[in-house]
Amino acid sequence: MLIPFVRSDLERKDIFSFSCNRCLQCCRAKKIQVNPYEIARIAGNFGISTTDCIQKYTVENGSFLKFDETDTCLFLGREGCTIHPDRPLVCRLYPLARHVNDREIEWFSEMERESECRGLCGTATTIQEYLDEQDTGDYIAAANRYLKLLWEMMHVLEKSGYSEDNPDNPDEKGTLANSPDENIVWTDMDAAVKKYCMEIRSVVPSSIEEKMRMHLDALLLWTNPS
Ligand code: SF4
Ligand code: SF4
Repeated sequence: MLIPFVRSDLERKDIFSFSCNRCLQCCRAKKIQVNPYEIARIAGNFGISTTDCIQKYTVENGSFLKFDETDTCLFLGREGCTIHPDRPLVCRLYPLARHVNDREIEWFSEMERESECRGLCGTATTIQEYLDEQDTGDYIAAANRYLKLLWEMMHVLEKSGYSEDNPDNPDEKGTLANSPDENIVWTDMDAAVKKYCMEIRSVVPSSIEEKMRMHLDALLLWTNPS
């Protein structure tokens, strides 16, 4: 479902504040997009691998969070988000949306909220302060890195004759043509890093940040081996 914007073309210096009243209405009937860093954060929250996390909690090969039959996020509990410290960027920003174009120019929009939303918008702070309040730094840095890689991947695919109308598109299964294991979906950080570490004879790192760095290196290599 596309959510209309009430304001757009906003910058970090623009006035924005929002106070959530925890009525828990906004975790329903949405599509929450996630990237491999966000999957790794959720997997870490449960102490499981990203492979299991993708299978249990996401759809479309780790592109979106899975919602239940009532169209409610699987992580919504009676008291609110059960993965709050590791919730995705989209959830941290709400009711803002962040956009970045292929020249890495960033802007924000303010979304129209649910009619039931009891949160209060105000003018006490700027967007930058709101981003800091929501602890978005690591999430935005990760989103920027994966987005840059995705553009690189698209560029390589276009050069190789990729077309969205082609039923044999390599991204249908979320796998990479040059990966050493055709079953690895590109969003699966743990599986990709494990395979990459075997290739380069390195130890699998334990921190998410270091794993992400290796994941990005692996994806770049497997996307464009030349
Ligand atoms: S991850 Fe948490 S905040 Fe985000 S939609 Fe699910 S329950 Fe809501
Ligand atoms: S609907 Fe609004 S007030 Fe309710 S939890 Fe979501 S953001 Fe907060």
